[in-house]
Amino acid sequence: MTDNRNSRDFLDTDIMFLKGVGSARGKALGDNFDIHTFRDLLYNFPYRYVDKSRFYKISEFLPDMPLVQVKGKFVNFVVEGEGMKRRLSAAFYDGERFFTVMWFHRIDAIKTAYKPGVEYIIFGKPVMNRGGYAMYHPEVSVYDPASPPKGFEGIYSVGETAQKKGWSSRQISKLVANLLEHSGYAAMTDPLPEELRSRYSLPGAVEAFREMHFPTNPERLQKARERMKFEELYYLELNILRYTRERGKRIKGEVFSRIGEKFNGFYNTCLPFDLTGAQKRVLKEIRADMKTGRQMNRLLQGDVGSGKTMVAFMTMLMALDNDCQAVIMAPTEILAHQHYDTMKEWCDCLGIEIRLLTGSTRTKSRRETLEGLKNGSVNIAVGTHALIEERVEFCRLGVAVIDEQHRFGVAQRAKLWSKGVVAPHVLVMTATPIPRTLAMTVYGDLDVSVIDELPPGRKPVQTYLRGDGGRMEVNRLIHRELKAGRQIYFVYPLIKENEKLALKSLEEGYRSVCDEFKDYRVAFVHGKMKPAEKDYQMGLFVDGTARIMVATTVIEVGVNVPNASVMVIESAERFGLSQLHQLRGRVGRGAEHSYCLLMSRDNIGGDTKRRLQIMTETSDGFLISEADMKMRGPGDMEGTQQSGIAFNLRVANLARDGQIVTVARQAAEMTLNAHPELTVASADSSCGKADLLPLSPLSLTTVARELRRRFAKDVDWSMIS
Ligand code: ADP
Ligand code: MG
Repeated sequence: MTDNRNSRDFLDTDIMFLKGVGSARGKALGDNFDIHTFRDLLYNFPYRYVDKSRFYKISEFLPDMPLVQVKGKFVNFVVEGEGMKRRLSAAFYDGERFFTVMWFHRIDAIKTAYKPGVEYIIFGKPVMNRGGYAMYHPEVSVYDPASPPKGFEGIYSVGETAQKKGWSSRQISKLVANLLEHSGYAAMTDPLPEELRSRYSLPGAVEAFREMHFPTNPERLQKARERMKFEELYYLELNILRYTRERGKRIKGEVFSRIGEKFNGFYNTCLPFDLTGAQKRVLKEIRADMKTGRQMNRLLQGDVGSGKTMVAFMTMLMALDNDCQAVIMAPTEILAHQHYDTMKEWCDCLGIEIRLLTGSTRTKSRRETLEGLKNGSVNIAVGTHALIEERVEFCRLGVAVIDEQHRFGVAQRAKLWSKGVVAPHVLVMTATPIPRTLAMTVYGDLDVSVIDELPPGRKPVQTYLRGDGGRMEVNRLIHRELKAGRQIYFVYPLIKENEKLALKSLEEGYRSVCDEFKDYRVAFVHGKMKPAEKDYQMGLFVDGTARIMVATTVIEVGVNVPNASVMVIESAERFGLSQLHQLRGRVGRGAEHSYCLLMSRDNIGGDTKRRLQIMTETSDGFLISEADMKMRGPGDMEGTQQSGIAFNLRVANLARDGQIVTVARQAAEMTLNAHPELTVASADSSCGKADLLPLSPLSLTTVARELRRRFAKDVDWSMIS
């Protein structure tokens, strides 16, 4: 057995003690690569691998490949284009097929250097170009049958500044090799205990690190990566869960034991339509939560138009039936107004007191509302951020609903929380469908409900992708819809890198829309406007005075204009799919046909086109969101950006490694079941579940130490939600 203490010391050893380093280079490694210890060096994995272990055939090329080498001959060099566009292209023949190789500089030198008929090895990344494969500026060497095959090699990222100071990927690789030869290496304590490795058939650290840095073949590298991903995700989930369990125990919520006259009365006499099956199911889930005596923290996901507002309202009625108050908070004034108008009607039917509170509520009305909330005469408050300002006091707040969660930061939610003596139940609603794996990780302590069914009678929005040539056809369609009395959205992208340009294209767009559709009033909204002006312009469109709206993406999430039937999205290639989906959700709310027209340049690339085509093929927000996440990575997803949590994952990818996330979470759950002492500040948070993953005392020490090491500086997870 390995000696635990000695081996911990090994990974923590200062990097300057590694053979070939010393104090000066040790400091340089720290400054340039953030590598201070043996551990840091080992976890500094190559960012890509090049496979020089064999020659690839052109027929084996795939759209996403590592750098590979091909053996063959150049035929037919051609210089094309003029000036800046001048390039050299050659066909390369591997004995079976041809593909294109291109150079953009040093054209004349290259053209004379490579001779037709000579057998070369070219090395580079195959990329798609005009329907075939190409390689740009490959490494070229004359084929020498006598030279030994090279390996499968990892490439380390070396920033520009470090390069200038003489650092290279090779040097890092050499240092790792030295570390693997160190006498202490083979005896290190595996950060992932034996019990877990054997249960999930994962390679040990000694082998896995070796493969990550010096792969022997693609299969073993794959295994090693899986292990590293598992390790990373296991500790992440363990850390989230150990706070979650503690919080679940600690925080009491109001117990709603009655379903009384308000809920039933509304259901029987005021409900304007039948609830969908999904709405009913979600209401049951919510009701079950609120009976337990624990505070509910539930994320309600439902596509645009799926009817979340009704679920929110009926949830609030549950609070009222138990002598509590309820609030619903929206991210903008316009939305708050819309909720208020909708709910006021329902409340009048029941004889309930509902009030609106926003930043622009007049002093007198504000005073009355504040008074009513404090003495309990106001049952429901609808509002914006104004609701969480310090001076708002509630008599007894039972439920807080937050609409369009991603606009609210964690801190704001926590503020709402501190309003009651007993924490109110919290229902967070979002139309941004977050894939399950991501939701589970980001909102480790939120339960998730999904409305996966739209109210009956909705017709899917007909979606088309059009290039520059399609403009006339699009305008004809819009004229027809306008004549039929409908309303139209034009949306322009926000271009962060160049706001001036963005505003220019928006203004030009506005003018050309005004020119083309002279007979109609056009509302105009963008992010640089004052809120009052924005609200005024939005209002023109909402009440139908303006039949056309030209806007950047500031058009309010959730605004309901059922009469709108066309959504034109300009430069659609600049939007994420989930964003396009959200925008598309603004139309198709009435019964008639509706259209979403994705406008883009004619010459967009293949990947971009495929991405946009997904929009024309499905209206399932979850499919779209998964596809989006796969293509862009979760870093861009609104949910993660706003949650303020950086996961700092090195190897795992939440979008692509969903399965490992699931398994790692199970493993973490079982660990906690067996070892409640790992739970924060608690010795008995048993969950009554039977699945246990008991660890030896030594393994337990390792796990506890890893948790401390990895998350010591972390946020307090108990305050998130
Ligand atoms: P979102 O989930 O985007 O917030 P809303 O709650 O605004 O959606 O609902 C969209 C529209 O669907 C509203 O006009 C609402 O009245 C209507 N609606 C909601 N639930 C149903 C239902 N079960 N049957 C028919 N219409 C419904
Ligand atoms: Mg809504």
